[in-house]
Amino acid sequence: MSEGSARVAVVGGGVIGLSAAWRAAAAGFRVELIDPAPAAGASSVAGGMLAPIAEAWPGEEELLELGSASLRRWPAFAEELSAASGRCPGLRTEGTLVVGVDSADRADLDRLCDYLDRLGRSVTRYDGRQLRRLEPSLGPGVRRGLVVPGDLAVDNRAALAALRAAAEAAGVVFRTERATAVRAGEVRTEESVVDCSTAVIAAGAHSAQLHPSLSGRIRPVKGEVLRLRARAGALPPPQRTVRGPVHGRPIYLVPRDDGGVVLGATQYEAGFDTDVTLGGVRDLVVDAEELVPGLSEYALLEARAGLRPTTEDNLPVLGLLEPGVLAATGHYRGGFLLAPITAEAVVAMLRGVEPPDEVRVAEPGRWEEQPCVS
Ligand SMILES: Cc1cc2nc3c(=O)[nH]c(=O)nc-3n(C[C@H](O)[C@H](O)[C@H](O)COP(=O)(O)OP(=O)(O)OC[C@H]3O[C@@H](n4cnc5c(N)ncnc54)[C@H](O)[C@@H]3O)c2cc1C
Repeated sequence: MSEGSARVAVVGGGVIGLSAAWRAAAAGFRVELIDPAPAAGASSVAGGMLAPIAEAWPGEEELLELGSASLRRWPAFAEELSAASGRCPGLRTEGTLVVGVDSADRADLDRLCDYLDRLGRSVTRYDGRQLRRLEPSLGPGVRRGLVVPGDLAVDNRAALAALRAAAEAAGVVFRTERATAVRAGEVRTEESVVDCSTAVIAAGAHSAQLHPSLSGRIRPVKGEVLRLRARAGALPPPQRTVRGPVHGRPIYLVPRDDGGVVLGATQYEAGFDTDVTLGGVRDLVVDAEELVPGLSEYALLEARAGLRPTTEDNLPVLGLLEPGVLAATGHYRGGFLLAPITAEAVVAMLRGVEPPDEVRVAEPGRWEEQPCVS
């Protein structure tokens, strides 16, 4: 496909659709982005951790490789994004602490540490006192932790604003319409039919409704998140991302440059429900205060829920569904982490060249032999 004459229609303007649209337009394609509410989906709720090591788990080696490959691309991606948009995406490089409070949490940390050792991705074990020397806001209940220096974080909303500005500057045309179906050569919306050489489905948790090959393959997994701000006189937040299991429940605190903190996240199979529940908020607050007691003095700015677009094997779906229709969806809990490699893969596939090797595990064809779960 020759870039200048090819029309690309990207369906969905979250972190994935915006990244793909920006990079495709910057590569010379004529791009339209179709979304009734760009940047309002899961991407606006996310914590913004770029943390393949801290999130690694036995059995998810392919995801770790894919995430690590995308993490390596983030510094250059952020730099190009700043230059193209004139905005800062808020990349933070202080790293992550993974900490635990009770004996079961500490056993989980030991398992993670041993697993990373076996993969040759060693992290350092610290006791509570060493951890509090690094992050004085940690509470006395934190007794063990791992220091993961290589993981990054980004301010999700700053990054979305930068991606939108970069996409517009590169010539992406935004259409505030809802797509109803995607087929080779066209995207049908509630108002019109958009002709294109290639359509890219990047509608997050809503992708399954748009093409028969995705039907039953992408499901929403709900997550609730709180946004906090340190008030005058309160202890400052940690500099690093702090994650726990706290009594077995996963939790994280991601600091922002402006003194804000994102506290997340719950995880439920609840269909397309995006209500924030009192029980979810209670669990987050109780667990977070155990890690950083000073949070009780912080202002609560926002409570929101988002839908992680999830597949059966927790890997995304990246590739051709049929000639002229590409999927770039199913990024589950790693859409920000995986945005650079996804956008690079989409542009390679639009050009008809091989995408990065690590993306092979995300081919839609991996399910051909398996019945879908609906
Ligand atoms: C609580 C929570 C915390 C998270 N934390 C992290 C984290 O720390 N790090 C990380 O990397 N990831 C994190 N994630 C995951 C990340 O947010 C997702 O993987 C990512 O946002 C997916 O991006 P997306 O662009 O595919 O989907 P979305 O951001 O959901 O965007 C989809 C877009 O498609 C549009 N759309 C939907 N239907 C249609 C239609 N029919 N026609 C046109 N447009 C449509 C929507 O309006 C929306 O703008 C988190 C997710 C949640 C919920």
